[in-house]
Amino acid sequence: VLLADASVSFASLLLSRRVLDGLTAAGFHRPSPIQLKAVPLGRCGLDLIVQAKSGTGKTCVFSTIALDSLVLENHTTQVLVLAPTREIAVQIHSVLMAIGSAMEGLRCHVFIGGTSLSQDKVNLKKCHIAVGSPGRIKQLIELGTLSTASIRLLVLDEADKLLEEGSFQEQINWIFSSLPATKQMLALSATYPESLAQHLTRYMREPTFVRLNPTDPSLKGLRQYYQLVNSHSHTHKVFEEKVLHLLELFSKVPFNQALVFSNLHSRAQHLADILSSKGLPAVCISGGLSQDQRLEAMSKLKQYQCRVLISTDLTSRGIDAEKVNLVINLDIPQDWETYMHRIGRAGRFGTQGLAVTYCCHGEEENKMMAMAQRCRLKLNPLPSPIDAGLM
Ligand code: ADP
Ligand code: MG
Repeated sequence: VLLADASVSFASLLLSRRVLDGLTAAGFHRPSPIQLKAVPLGRCGLDLIVQAKSGTGKTCVFSTIALDSLVLENHTTQVLVLAPTREIAVQIHSVLMAIGSAMEGLRCHVFIGGTSLSQDKVNLKKCHIAVGSPGRIKQLIELGTLSTASIRLLVLDEADKLLEEGSFQEQINWIFSSLPATKQMLALSATYPESLAQHLTRYMREPTFVRLNPTDPSLKGLRQYYQLVNSHSHTHKVFEEKVLHLLELFSKVPFNQALVFSNLHSRAQHLADILSSKGLPAVCISGGLSQDQRLEAMSKLKQYQCRVLISTDLTSRGIDAEKVNLVINLDIPQDWETYMHRIGRAGRFGTQGLAVTYCCHGEEENKMMAMAQRCRLKLNPLPSPIDAGLM
């Protein structure tokens, strides 16, 4: 659906045979519009800022560029990919391994907090591509375990998140200054706030800006609705009412898998318990869980062992679970960027999906309408009664 032009193949981007074979094996036959634009520029060694909505294939952009330029015979770390969450790092790793499947001897590992440092040391021996969270990568460089001398490409995935106020700025500054001066840099993000522009100009020299025009159809298959909820004096009553709406929705629409976003972790867990007790296998993922628990929840979703994943904003970015075709905002997101990231979890790569946001009459309703206007969303009230034809 999203493909630019049926006559354009990856082969016409002049990639190496080994990468073309890997792309085919991974099921990627034709480049998406952002891939078509960004991959050739990246292959020329330019610093790029790639901005395109979620689900447009940005992971494949930098994976292709990284793998194509890799010198397998050199057993040194040549590419460093930073990602804001552990889950995204794990996912990037699997895309790199898929596209790199025809590259014999390719070594790529994930380095994230909450796992054993001694295993990291083993993995870093002869590791071509290191993917990780800023905290752990910084630690490994400091310890001298990760040698930066041969790094030629630095990738910041979800750069807006990585460099946002109060997140990983300091760690990234530190990592950046430990890398060789002559390296290529790619920054990818779905939004491009002014603050990100300011940070990136500190790192990049005359970067090339690659973006899709705003009318690109990546979320075209996603229908967006809102449901007004009475604003009671007690917040738990509001929650109860939302749960009733949610149960009705789940019972009426034939969804594959759903993601539910709750602003509060405590409610996320509570909701998971309620849904599970009603026979809808649900798991909850949030920063309060251990690393193992989080990875386990993600893999349950991917292996179709649960129907509903409830999360806080932790997983709103970058997570690509292809069977998710329903996204629920139990609470309205704090800003429109968060809204876009959340709903982008359904309708990945132009597939059909449904997004429903619950908001209270009054203040929340106004805020939601303002966001809809800001993003030019086609946002309609959820029809009542709900019927299966919505999906
Ligand atoms: P983004 O990082 O822009 O949010 P992803 O890189 O996670 O998007 O890609 C979204 C989905 O699109 C993934 O399921 C991926 O496998 C799929 N995809 C990406 N590029 C292609 C392609 N060229 N052909 C087919 N599917 C693709
Ligand atoms: Mg991404």
